[in-house]
Amino acid sequence: MSYLGDTDSEIADIIEKERLRQLNGLELIASENLVSRAVLEAMGSIMTNKYAEGYPGKRYYGGCEFHDMAENLARERLNSLFGSEHSNVQPHSGTQANMAVYFGCMNVRDPLLSMSLAQGGHLSHGSPVNFSGRLFNVTHYGVDLKTETLDYGVIEEIARKSRPKVIVCGASAYPRNIDFKAFQEIAEGVGARVVADIAHIAGLCATGVHQSPVNIVDFTTTTTHKTLRGPRGGAILCRKEDAQNIDKQVFPGMQGGPLMHIIAAKAVCFKEAQKPSFRDYNIQIVKNSKALAECLIENEIRLISGGTDNHLMLLDLSSLGLTGLEAEIALGKAGITVNKNTIPNEQRSPFVTSGLRIGTPTITTRGMKEQDMPIIGEWITTVLRDVNNNFEINRIKTEVTEFSKKFPLYPE
Ligand SMILES: *Cc1c(COP(=O)(O)O)cnc(C)c1O
Repeated sequence: MSYLGDTDSEIADIIEKERLRQLNGLELIASENLVSRAVLEAMGSIMTNKYAEGYPGKRYYGGCEFHDMAENLARERLNSLFGSEHSNVQPHSGTQANMAVYFGCMNVRDPLLSMSLAQGGHLSHGSPVNFSGRLFNVTHYGVDLKTETLDYGVIEEIARKSRPKVIVCGASAYPRNIDFKAFQEIAEGVGARVVADIAHIAGLCATGVHQSPVNIVDFTTTTTHKTLRGPRGGAILCRKEDAQNIDKQVFPGMQGGPLMHIIAAKAVCFKEAQKPSFRDYNIQIVKNSKALAECLIENEIRLISGGTDNHLMLLDLSSLGLTGLEAEIALGKAGITVNKNTIPNEQRSPFVTSGLRIGTPTITTRGMKEQDMPIIGEWITTVLRDVNNNFEINRIKTEVTEFSKKFPLYPE
């Protein structure tokens, strides 16, 4: 950062403050992670200095020979990681990846079936405030309110009634395994196509820690920056027969020039994800998640669905007489970053909520293991039991800082 410090000390100072925040705190936001130095270098490289509209071998600008090599490597590595026939690495984000698939399968006002945002889905799955809810005729499924898990029989009934063209599965706040095969079977019964949005669990799917939807469903969309641990961005996987359609929807359908520095960084990420250590990492994410969940349950905090199969858990704070907003603020003061989240049968607004989402990808990247989880679980419990006890919260913040500093900010 020596150049930036000389030319723009204001931004350099802000970045340094943020580095210290990341180093001295516990990041438990389930959708976040820390990238390697190699990914950072590719992102910060001169690959950004180029327009490369089009695809390798078919660009609308000259001088793209090295960008072609980078994008081809990214696509090949992603295909070999997931065993997919075709991949598109140009979507700027997970939302863009979903948009391209929707545009490839539907016309405006066509019926779309997806999980509701309030029960674990994503904005881009047809929320009324998102383009997807404005353009398509959306029906939602949720979780069974008793088990707080997906009920595939009920989803099938809803699909029979709403006759969707596209069924979206995948979630942002669902702590249990998703049966992609069941979704594919439901879709076949009603003539729909399936989009599996694995934004959160892509790393788990790539390493076999969670069932992969690739080659089971028609389209898999993902972000590259959550459990996949790469640069901020999106990607789409599909079969050869859909390749041309999908590529056309991304460019020129929805985006202009691809972010070639990010695509280079995606290629680096996909190479890292092929290493055996990446599988160990994803196994450890889930071990940590289960260990943290166990500690919270022992401390009589209710978890939605009673536990977790993946990298995240959802806490129901209603019995503690606490809102998600109050909990997020109190934990933030203790150096523990989480986000408030709606829970099934939510009675409060999305700005307040009765729940908290907690995930382990970032702390696992820093090298924390199962034995560290009870320490974190006790801190969380202590804060949640008395959110107004600033003396106790300050004491915990000191402990959190001392503890966190011992774990590096970059993956090995
Ligand atoms: C994070 C997420 C996305 C996309 O996120 P962007 O912020 O647009 O990159 C899409 N779907 C799900 C399920 C997600 O959790």
